[in-house]
Amino acid sequence: MNQQAVRSRLETLLADLDRSASVLTRERESGGETEQLDQHPADYASNVGEVDREEASLEVIDAQRSRVKDALKRLAAGSYGQCIDCGRDLPEERLDARPEAERCVNCQQRHEARR
Ligand SMILES: [Zn+2]
Repeated sequence: MNQQAVRSRLETLLADLDRSASVLTRERESGGETEQLDQHPADYASNVGEVDREEASLEVIDAQRSRVKDALKRLAAGSYGQCIDCGRDLPEERLDARPEAERCVNCQQRHEARR
């Protein structure tokens, strides 16, 4: 795995999320206009990945942002790419699709079932 490439991908992702969050915050502060981020629908869709545009909210972006930050921390600590629950290496396709992924598919499903 190319750590440099992963780091820059995560940092780009984080910058995008920061931008989305600040747009949403501005709109929220300016009186609850709900037409979020309509000026860059394509950008926005790629920022939030599989999250549906209509469901996207500041909370979703914040949660994603902290996942990306955690991934950067794991990268620095040398544990990036391992499942935080079972410790197995995450498949490269998964990291490719979700560079901030912290669990393997099995553990993620178990984790989501618990919520
Ligand atoms: Zn796992």
